[in-house]
Amino acid sequence: MGAPICRSAHLAAGGRRIVLWRQHDACPWWREVVSDTSLAPGFIPISRSACCAKLAWSCYTLNMDAKVYIQTQGCQMNEYDSGKMMDVLREYAGCVSVRSPDEADILLLNTCSIREKAQEKVFSLLGRWKELKAKKPGLIIGVGGCVASQEGDLLCERAPFVDIIFGPQTLHRLPEMVRKVRHDKLPVVDVSFPEIEKFDCLPEPRAEGPSAFVSIMEGCSKYCTYCVVPYTRGEEFSRPFDDVLAEVAMLAEQGVREVNLLGQNVNAYRGCMYDGGLADLALLIRYITAVEGIERIRYTTSHPVEFSASLIEVYAEVPQLVNHLHLPVQSGSDRILALMKRQHTVLEYKAKIQKLRKIRPHISISSDFIIGFPGETEIDFELTMKLIDEVGFDQSFSFIFSPRPGTPAASYMDNVPLEIKKVRLARLQAKISEQAVKISRGMVGTIQRVLVTGPSRKDSRQLAGRTENNRVVNFHGHSALIGEFTDVRIIEAMPNSLRGEMVRTIDPA
Ligand code: SAM
Ligand code: SF4
Repeated sequence: MGAPICRSAHLAAGGRRIVLWRQHDACPWWREVVSDTSLAPGFIPISRSACCAKLAWSCYTLNMDAKVYIQTQGCQMNEYDSGKMMDVLREYAGCVSVRSPDEADILLLNTCSIREKAQEKVFSLLGRWKELKAKKPGLIIGVGGCVASQEGDLLCERAPFVDIIFGPQTLHRLPEMVRKVRHDKLPVVDVSFPEIEKFDCLPEPRAEGPSAFVSIMEGCSKYCTYCVVPYTRGEEFSRPFDDVLAEVAMLAEQGVREVNLLGQNVNAYRGCMYDGGLADLALLIRYITAVEGIERIRYTTSHPVEFSASLIEVYAEVPQLVNHLHLPVQSGSDRILALMKRQHTVLEYKAKIQKLRKIRPHISISSDFIIGFPGETEIDFELTMKLIDEVGFDQSFSFIFSPRPGTPAASYMDNVPLEIKKVRLARLQAKISEQAVKISRGMVGTIQRVLVTGPSRKDSRQLAGRTENNRVVNFHGHSALIGEFTDVRIIEAMPNSLRGEMVRTIDPA
């Protein structure tokens, strides 16, 4: 083993500092708890003993020199996973990413099965990739994500030209799977749920800009009657507290200023701490504020039942936590909420929002809605519209109910015609857009702190930044501001963005 010090993350949590140690020489993936705090008096150790060398090591010597193209469907969680797929293939197998399937030696499709539409797209895309493989016989095709996890057998049957089928929890094994396919010339299927192994085997995070996602938990144990997530991603599993802090600290060292904590049910987080205790999301957020460089914290996506008093308190004490909350309610009817098995009522949801608004009166709240759940009456729908009005929801996601095989709601009697569902969805979306436009217009004249993410997409002479309530602001400014926070006065609200001007700060000298 090499010398114990590699790096220290200088953090201050509750007056203490947290230090991040790593062992370098023997294996770059070895991380160890430093229990001997005499090495760094006044510091408390983070990072756990997690040697993933077994897997990483065996792949490290592989140099496949392959070009990889990854196509991603679905949510932010899938975007995050696709990034990690590329990371493992780059780090452990010397692969590079390419922008077009025609250039690639390995094609990976990261699938989503939350609604039927997304699933249908898998087979149509695979049809096109089959043609590419006919022209390039060595081409390896892999399918990962939730469709692979749930429909692995169907995939083997309907698309026998697919070489690799892997689940969201086995993506870190990709280098080894590719090696096997090349060597044995046989397909590989691995859709198991080995939980923590995945995170231990991922290479160190690479920042791509000032904002980064950090996955803190996986899966879901809520089993809402319409949802496939517990079956495709497994039950709730939280990453150890120290590992999350270590990842945030490493990202901050690379210039990240904003972290977005990710999980299917992120506020169900219960991470093991170095002293054997369990930390909830509230405690994790408090610790993250101690990471030097991190000035903004977001989390997505949450369940109302897990929106606890301790989490609400954090909004009073932690200014780094953004003035925006995504808290999906799905429906404004108690009858439908019960059929969905959401485990709360409309009143309970509103009571939590009320408590939060006492602390943060201007917080923007967004949600997910499912329209046309089996048996949804006109009255149920009107109750949802009433709730939208009462809460004043900002930009939100809304979907027509999609029966998913294996979920209880798929067998519920659905007597609502599709045409009616479409009309309801259009009405709901129009109402939410109207409210979002009103919120944007209300921002005109205010000064917003924005994180400058890069040049504006429409006009490269301008910069683009994000407000706390997740709106893009375009404004004129120096490119040196990219990656930094700056104050911008909002001068115009456009349909999908805001226009602003920089606020000149007066130099007291
Ligand atoms: N855990 C979060 C929660 O409980 O609200 C949501 C995560 S889920 C992956 C994302 C969204 O997909 C849900 O909030 C829901 O609105 C939508 N969704 C899930 N299953 C669906 C289905 N069968 N039909 C339509 N929309 C669905
Ligand atoms: Fe799906 Fe969210 Fe319900 Fe879990 S809590 S089953 S992820 S909708």
